[in-house]
Amino acid sequence: MILVNFIIFFLNMLYTLFNTFSRVFRLSPPNPFNKDSRKPRKPYEHDPEARSYVLQQNFSIDKVPSALDAVVIGSGIGGLTTAVILAKSGKKVLVLEQGKVAGGCCSTIPEQGLNFDIGVHYVGEMGDNSFCRTFFDQITDGQVEWTKLEDQFDIVYIGDKHKQRIYPVTAGLENWKVLLKEQFPAETIGIDQYFAHIHTCENAKFIFGALKMMPLWFVHLLVKTGILRVVTNMWKDAYTRSALELVQDLTHNHDLQTMLLYYWGDVGTLPSRTYFSTMALISKHLNLDGSYYPIGGPSELPFNMIPIIEKAGGRVLVSADVDEIFFTKGKVSSVCVKHNGEKFTVPCKMVISDAGLYNTIMKLVPTLVAKNSYYYEIANELSEPCMTVISCYAGLDGTPEQLGIKPQNYWFFLKGDDIDKEVKEYLNADLEDLIKPEADIPSGFISFNSAKDPEWNMLKERRGKTTMEILIVANWDWFKDWKNVEHKGTEYKHIKEAFGNKMIARAVEMFPKIKDRIIFRRVGTPLAYDHAIRKHHGGMYGLDHAMARYAPWMEARLRAKTDLPGLYLTGQDVLDSGVVSAAFSGALTAQACLGRPVLWDLYQLHTKLFKQRRK
Ligand SMILES: Cc1cc2nc3c(=O)[nH]c(=O)nc-3n(C[C@H](O)[C@H](O)[C@H](O)COP(=O)(O)OP(=O)(O)OC[C@H]3O[C@@H](n4cnc5c(N)ncnc54)[C@H](O)[C@@H]3O)c2cc1C
Repeated sequence: MILVNFIIFFLNMLYTLFNTFSRVFRLSPPNPFNKDSRKPRKPYEHDPEARSYVLQQNFSIDKVPSALDAVVIGSGIGGLTTAVILAKSGKKVLVLEQGKVAGGCCSTIPEQGLNFDIGVHYVGEMGDNSFCRTFFDQITDGQVEWTKLEDQFDIVYIGDKHKQRIYPVTAGLENWKVLLKEQFPAETIGIDQYFAHIHTCENAKFIFGALKMMPLWFVHLLVKTGILRVVTNMWKDAYTRSALELVQDLTHNHDLQTMLLYYWGDVGTLPSRTYFSTMALISKHLNLDGSYYPIGGPSELPFNMIPIIEKAGGRVLVSADVDEIFFTKGKVSSVCVKHNGEKFTVPCKMVISDAGLYNTIMKLVPTLVAKNSYYYEIANELSEPCMTVISCYAGLDGTPEQLGIKPQNYWFFLKGDDIDKEVKEYLNADLEDLIKPEADIPSGFISFNSAKDPEWNMLKERRGKTTMEILIVANWDWFKDWKNVEHKGTEYKHIKEAFGNKMIARAVEMFPKIKDRIIFRRVGTPLAYDHAIRKHHGGMYGLDHAMARYAPWMEARLRAKTDLPGLYLTGQDVLDSGVVSAAFSGALTAQACLGRPVLWDLYQLHTKLFKQRRK
């Protein structure tokens, strides 16, 4: 504790010096978080047309502002966060999004008057006093509100309908520990050890974040000499062993093993290939004080961030497919944008890519230039993305109350004897066999996001309706041959519908009241993620960070500022997957672009607001 206080004191001193010199010698741009920017919440906008006026501004060359400070490729939460922070520091930024709507994974898909979320089911650490909450309040000017899910925010079903066990997970790590001990009274020692391992990883996010901010030569020294493991606690089992190994050592009870690993789908890599520390980070994030959902749906994030970018003279334009980043004399000089079959050149000295590491380095940067960068090697080594999924969106006739649904997420595991092995066997099985009516799905995730949103009923068409989203893990190879096929034909449709039938059947088993209430459904394969939000091979969370962490040196080198002058990366590939991590990576990138300690600026504001609240 004394050491932590000393470090904070030391950083504060440095910060004061930095600010004084900056002001006197104009060394860096203004502090983007110099004042609390929260404003009273405006009335929610439900009119689709008014929303599309903000979220769907089509690209045209005359909408491109002159004298741009930066171009951001991709309007996911990472790209928008960087753009907002740069805008708050007085920069004029153009965000170019290839899709028809801004927001990336935070956008929603309209279908028959209902809205389905792409990539947000729950988010952690949004309690009133948290640092994350201050961050999100500031990047949305206080316009995004969060509602808490049920205390039992995840419910885990293990077994088939004949022998089903249902285990709720409750908010707060201590509470969950107590609940697990009630559910597995003979396993208290293993459960205690599990939580001790989670606490071991208390500082994991600071360590990984710090590694990305320190000078590379210094990180190299720390990693190669082994000093890093000694000065941190990274030599402990939680950092050096896989989640699967560690949990299997704690207990032989299969249901408990499943419970301790059930959220591997939030990580995106099987527990046998994930360091325990990565699981611990997610567990702490989602379970610190419960889980939250953005009121009005995830698209409230882009909807309220875009005006901040525009206020500083920037724009967020969609249907703007960046095809190439041009370099002149080794430096970024412009980007080529494809729109309606035409190509346009947008000059800029700084390009920030939220399009993912692989896409950026292997597809957007000219190969000859890319090969000069050490990112080329990393992109090659991490070309295998994390897991991909098949999704089934269904519209249900009935309110959550009528259908027996609460603001929760539901996970299912058909056997739950060894979830890692069961998924591996499934992914390696013959597709012909998997789509047979008698074949089962080993596991999956079901969420009813409309049931989480207090604003859902404000639109007349949605009243009395509920949305259901089902996700199951999939293999990219099952679908890759159809990637560039425009009319995919009956075989593709047959496979999609076969999976859709199984997913719906499983959901009906778990929620019998929805049986005759399904109005429509839409099944999406990994090709949808590959196409709509450009996820390489459909990898739902982008690159496989769990893999990268097997080589901390590689993870440390994966940072916002690349070694190609003028090119920066942002989004989930830089730090970690998840809305909060992608947004924080947006702040890291803004920090690198502005050359000022943006995260420390934010921390200062957070401390000030916290003190004010306590008075
Ligand atoms: C199914 C699913 C469920 C999820 N559930 C949760 C959850 O419950 N909680 C949570 O915290 N996280 C969840 N996530 C993860 C989270 O949504 C993401 O980690 C995060 O939103 C990623 O943000 P990003 O900015 O890195 O990228 P993205 O949101 O993927 O944005 C990247 C954008 O770049 C655009 N782009 C790519 N190439 C180009 C180009 N050449 N030109 C122009 N634009 C381009 C894409 O179209 C896309 O809009 C989920 C993700 C998925 C897919």
